[in-house]
Amino acid sequence: MNTAMLTLIDAAKEKILAQKEWLTSLDAAIGDGDHGINMARGFEAVATKVRTLPPEAELPAILKTVGMTLISTVGGASGPLYGTAFLRAADQASKSAGLPAAALLGNILAGALQGIKDRGKATTGEKTMVDALEPACVAYDRGLTEGKTLPVCLEMACEAARQGVEYTKTIIATKGRASYLGERSLGHQDPGATSLCLLLETLSDFVN
Ligand code: ADP
Ligand code: MG
Ligand code: MG
Repeated sequence: MNTAMLTLIDAAKEKILAQKEWLTSLDAAIGDGDHGINMARGFEAVATKVRTLPPEAELPAILKTVGMTLISTVGGASGPLYGTAFLRAADQASKSAGLPAAALLGNILAGALQGIKDRGKATTGEKTMVDALEPACVAYDRGLTEGKTLPVCLEMACEAARQGVEYTKTIIATKGRASYLGERSLGHQDPGATSLCLLLETLSDFVN
């Protein structure tokens, strides 16, 4: 497949592998301590799987492969959630073919967010990856409306995602394993919001 996409996917894998222990320790504090392990397993499988795609594979097919690989290799909540995000991103990529890149990426991010919300029956304020991705999508769209370039829109999205991760420290989890802790989840950042932010930052570094 396309070498630029391969470079991006490898960068995402490397980022997750580099932060594997950290993600796992964040999950150990409020969950079952496997988020880094889950994400590393998933992205290692993704990096292998996309290499089997034909050279002419286009964005929707690549995103779909990423999603299906995450669903089939990641045990735990984050597999189906990220997997659905990439499958919905793939749908948006095919519907948005022909749009300028900045608008295309906005639709892809919105599709990913809707996928996570649907799959997880989640909304903002529940201490999940939605608390990073939803503000990121809002910021990205604000950038688009202001006529900013794709890299600038993505920087705005990353900044909003980082603030979203900080926000997760201030709220009680009401979805996922962390919800079993109730008030004891306060003060800890959500691992899924954190990995979401890392992935967005990888994309931003790639285009900047
Ligand atoms: P598990 O909780 O099954 O061990 P992971 O540790 O890999 O799975 O992923 C946990 C992350 O998944 C959480 O930090 C949270 O961001 C996200 N998550 C869990 N449940 C939901 C949900 N219903 N909706 C959205 N995100 C969720
Ligand atoms: Mg876990
Ligand atoms: Mg688990």
